[in-house]
Amino acid sequence: MHASVSRKPEARPTTAAPPAFAGSFDLPTRQSGALRPLILNPPTVADCGERALIARISQRLSTEPWVVVGPGDDAAAIEPVRGALEVLTTDAQVEGVHFDRRFVPPDAIGHRALAVNLSDLAAMGARPRAALLSMALPASLEIAAFDRMIDGLLALAARHGVTLIGGNITRTPGPMVLDVTAIGTVHRRKVLTRAGARVGDEVYVTGSLGDAAIGLMRLQNDDTDTGAAARYLRPEPRVRAGLLLGRNRAATSCMDLSDGLADGVRQIAQASSVGITLDAAQIPITAESKEWLSQHQQDPIDLALTGGDDFELIFTVRPRQAGRLRAVRRHLGNLPITRIGVVTRAPRLLVKDGHRERELPEGYEHFR
Ligand SMILES: [Mg+2]
Repeated sequence: MHASVSRKPEARPTTAAPPAFAGSFDLPTRQSGALRPLILNPPTVADCGERALIARISQRLSTEPWVVVGPGDDAAAIEPVRGALEVLTTDAQVEGVHFDRRFVPPDAIGHRALAVNLSDLAAMGARPRAALLSMALPASLEIAAFDRMIDGLLALAARHGVTLIGGNITRTPGPMVLDVTAIGTVHRRKVLTRAGARVGDEVYVTGSLGDAAIGLMRLQNDDTDTGAAARYLRPEPRVRAGLLLGRNRAATSCMDLSDGLADGVRQIAQASSVGITLDAAQIPITAESKEWLSQHQQDPIDLALTGGDDFELIFTVRPRQAGRLRAVRRHLGNLPITRIGVVTRAPRLLVKDGHRERELPEGYEHFR
C-alpha cells in the first residue's frame, strides 16, 4: 500500500474567483502557503473547500438565454415564460430519513433529490424549467462521492430540460441534506390540482405500485440487483404523463404518490370534498412484486396502499372525457394507466376487495 496519496490537481480551486452560489460554506481549507499536508485518505469536501466545490458544479452547467443572472451572483434572475404560471416546489432528502448511504449510491442520492421535485411539478401538469440546489454536507464526504451526486442530479436534469440556476453549500455536523427547489411552467387553464375531483369521476394511477417499498426492503437486506431496487434508487418522475394530462385537460385532479396510495386517495378526497372507493383487484402490482411479497408473507394491497416512494401519479377523469384519456395513453406508449376506483358523493374512503369493503388505512406521514 502507498504511504501517501497526493492531492488530485482537480481538487484545487480552478479559478481565482469561482462563481458562487448564493450563501456561504464555512469549511476551513487545509492548505496554507505552498505546503500542503499529506493526504492519506481520499480527498473530502473539507479538503476541497466551498469555492472549489461550487466551481466543480458551475463548470458543468450550460447557460440558457432566459437565465439573466446565473450562478455566481447573490441570487439568480430568470425571464418568465410569457402567458404561463410559474410553479414552484421544494423538497429535501435527509440522510437517515429518506436515504441510507450504506446502500444508496451517491448518484442515486442526487437523482432522488431532483426526482421528488420533478414529480411534484408533474403532478401539477407543469413543464420543469429550473432548479436550485442547497446542500448541507458532512466534512468527511469524499469529493468523488460529491461529484457522483452531482452526476446523478445533472443527468436527470438534462433528460427533463432542467437548468440548475443556483444554490448553496454549507457544512453540517449532522446528516447530509440535499434540498432542491424546482420551478416549472404551466398555462393557467391547464394547471392540475388535488381539488377538482367530482362525483362519478374515475380514479387512475400510472405505472405500478409498491415496487419502491419492496426495493427499499430488499436493499436493506443487501439484495441490490433488482428492478424494485432501481425503482427506489432512481424513481422516474412522470413528467410527460403530467404534462399530457394537463395539456388536453383529461384529468380533473392529480397528485403524485410519494407517501403511498392511501395518502394520495385521502389527499384528493379531502381537497375535493368527495369520497373515493378503490377496487383492490385493479391496483397495479407487478408479478415480480407479488411473488416476492407472497414469499415474505406480506399483503400486496396493504403494501401498495401504505408503501411510499413510488412517485406515480394518481388522477381523476370524468367518464365522458375517456377520449382525452385515450389520447394521453397513446402518447405515453409503454407507461400503463390503470383505473383503480371511483369518486363517490359519500365522503368515505373505502377499499373494495371482492365482497369485502374496508376503510382505507393511513398512509405514511412524517412526525407520526
Ligand atoms: Mg407531491
